[in-house]
Amino acid sequence: TTTEPTVVIVGAGQAGAECAIALRQQGFDGRIVLLGDEGHLPYRRPPLSKAFLSGKSSQDALYIKSESAWDDLAIDCRPDIGVEAIDRGSRTLHLFDGTRIAYDKLVLATGGRTRTLSVPGAEHPNVFCIRTIDDVLALQEEFVPGRRLVIVGGGYIGLEVAAVAVEKGLATTVVEAEARVLPRVGCDLLCDFFAEAHRRRGVELRLGTGVHAFEGEERAEAVVLADGTRLPADLVVVGIGIVPNTELAAAAGLDVSDGIVVDAQTRTSDPDIHAIGDCSYHANAFYGRSMRLESVPNAMEQGRVAAAVLAGKPAEHRAVPWFWSDQYDLKLQMVGLARDAERQVLRGSPEDGAFMVFHMAGDRAIAADAVNRPQEFALARRLVGERIPVQDAQLADTAVALKDLLAR
Ligand code: FAD
Repeated sequence: TTTEPTVVIVGAGQAGAECAIALRQQGFDGRIVLLGDEGHLPYRRPPLSKAFLSGKSSQDALYIKSESAWDDLAIDCRPDIGVEAIDRGSRTLHLFDGTRIAYDKLVLATGGRTRTLSVPGAEHPNVFCIRTIDDVLALQEEFVPGRRLVIVGGGYIGLEVAAVAVEKGLATTVVEAEARVLPRVGCDLLCDFFAEAHRRRGVELRLGTGVHAFEGEERAEAVVLADGTRLPADLVVVGIGIVPNTELAAAAGLDVSDGIVVDAQTRTSDPDIHAIGDCSYHANAFYGRSMRLESVPNAMEQGRVAAAVLAGKPAEHRAVPWFWSDQYDLKLQMVGLARDAERQVLRGSPEDGAFMVFHMAGDRAIAADAVNRPQEFALARRLVGERIPVQDAQLADTAVALKDLLAR
């Protein structure tokens, strides 16, 4: 029993961990309990499809903090206890191990789980997905040079896996139902650039066709496409997005749409319960509307906003979304939401492997994509975030420094 104010965070991922750390940084000195169900201390997922999969980075390097560092912050991190139900009336959580825990404030940071393909053979043991350390450890056993790998999904995770695979010597094919790779995030120019980058390095792309079935008795031996093509395979990776983990919130009667609905202070329809990260359908004050995002910067920013609000400080979520992906020696960085753009402006040249695309509306850049332009990307974030008026011709002219456009 304790009279200390208790914040319980459900989900020991990127958002939950950041929220716990930020609570201490904000001076909260009550009890903090961080509950996870993966059996791992909080870790970073981006390397799972990059340096960890390739073997360039160790498992230890994934962890956000060591066990003793969590202890030093007096954060009670329990990564192997899932939460089964929320009893809002008594402010109590029911845990899967049969115990209960009381909260004063609750933060839901439950993330998402990989979307599965509902086609015959999808349950075969050599059909993998990539969300957790354990997923990658299982995949690595079969990720062997010379094997034939078929990747279903040409989004950023599928393409990152393709880059690692082909460099390692696997015969790699990517199947994407849409007519282009990166269909959810990229403009034509960017998608064509990445498609070409993969083809040139030996990845076979099958665009505009879905998967009909995985053929084979005990293992997937071939991927049969909707157009009838049969691709022999030794292993398959499915990367077709995630489903937000909202069931816990929905069962407790909280508002849920494409994610747990929260305001710009990260509060759900119950003011004692917050939700952050991939699981949240959140208001963004910069845009004046709500969205669900799947990115580390968003998870961390929302974690910090929730912590500030819980510590009684004024805060709101108004960050402009940004994201990155690493494929081969190509660093892709994106900021803003490009979907309302009226036109694109190219800066630099794709042939040189380093360029930017600005997405324009009126006299503003509302979004920007950078390939191997990290310094200019940092300036582009400010151009977008500060809504600075610019002329297309200046952005297109590499002799004009972006720094000078900011100064005006
Ligand atoms: P998660 O990290 O998913 O954490 C949620 C945690 O809650 C999980 O551990 C889950 O098991 C746990 N949980 C769920 N329900 C319960 C319950 N009832 N009880 C207890 N625990 C529960 N983003 C980028 O910005 N850049 C990248 O390059 C990038 N690369 C990525 C590569 C891969 C392979 C993957 C999978 C993701 C990548 N992302 C990247 C996305 C990024 O990792 C996510 O956006 C981020 O992890 C979201 O953090 P989160 O805390 O909201 O959710």
